[in-house]
Amino acid sequence: MSLLSVIVPCFNEEENVSDFYEELLKNSGFFSENNYSFEIIFVDDGSKDGTVREVKKLIEKDEGVHLLSFSRNFGKEAAIYAGLQKSAGDLIAIMDADLQDPPSLLPEMFKCIGEGYDSVATRRVDRKGEPPVRSFFARAFYRIINRMSRTEIVDGARDYRLMTRRFVDAVLQLTEYNRFTKGIFSWVGFETKWLEYENIERRKGETKWSFWKLFWYALDGIVAFTTAPLTFAAFLGVLFCVVAFILIVVTIIRKAVFGDPTSGWPSLVCIISLVSGVQLFCLGIVGQYLSKTYMEVKRRPIYILREDI
Ligand code: UDP
Ligand code: MG
Repeated sequence: MSLLSVIVPCFNEEENVSDFYEELLKNSGFFSENNYSFEIIFVDDGSKDGTVREVKKLIEKDEGVHLLSFSRNFGKEAAIYAGLQKSAGDLIAIMDADLQDPPSLLPEMFKCIGEGYDSVATRRVDRKGEPPVRSFFARAFYRIINRMSRTEIVDGARDYRLMTRRFVDAVLQLTEYNRFTKGIFSWVGFETKWLEYENIERRKGETKWSFWKLFWYALDGIVAFTTAPLTFAAFLGVLFCVVAFILIVVTIIRKAVFGDPTSGWPSLVCIISLVSGVQLFCLGIVGQYLSKTYMEVKRRPIYILREDI
């Protein structure tokens, strides 16, 4: 008998845990026909509600259910990492607890693994039910990061995946603190099959991602997977030097030929403000990379466990 590990990051999902479990088990027939049994790892990411209580209820009746509980909210990326570390399966799936990742897709994903893929990923083709502003910025983010980074980040990609053991072992070799999972999955390589489906709205509860949380997440992704902004800062520096040089030459010639008296106070003020703005901006870019390096160098653990059942 082979084992399929299903990792479910949960942050305040008490209403969804048992629904998710029921839906997932609808596939157990298919998998037992193929000689696979289930292991479900719920990773409680410091929930403040009854998520842990709900999972413990499941543990009482099903010994294939596990719980990893964090001491506080460490973020979904940390929860995925913890789940992957704990998983013992030959195949490993990551799914959201809110049923936005339809368990009914698992058999199809399983067949793709049979065709020789090491990872089967999903992307949603539309963004139905999402605020337009959020969709706009999400699209812009994918355009920007793909232009800057050599690692491909697929637009609309979800974290819903089915992976082989060797793919997961490769992912676990990346022990960085700033985990941008979408990039990591792409970075490790292997052949990935993409399945598409229409967006499904979350079953119960609210999304855990505010606009600003997503905004910082996007910045983290950019800093983690490309150093293009640093090159851009250097490029701006060169550009401004060239412009300044031309201005100096022009000013000297004008003085020599026309004997121009000192003038141009307002333009001077404008130039100084512009240049200092650009300098601070570039310093900010360097600061972003420095701060990430700082966090990385501290080698703090990615998560802290409170319970492991
Ligand atoms: N999640 C988590 N930690 C967090 C935020 C979210 O473990 O800090 C989990 C959440 O419980 C859910 C999944 O990540 O199972 C996706 O979150 P959500 O549905 O809020 O995101 P969306 O689908 O709106 O992008
Ligand atoms: Mg969701």
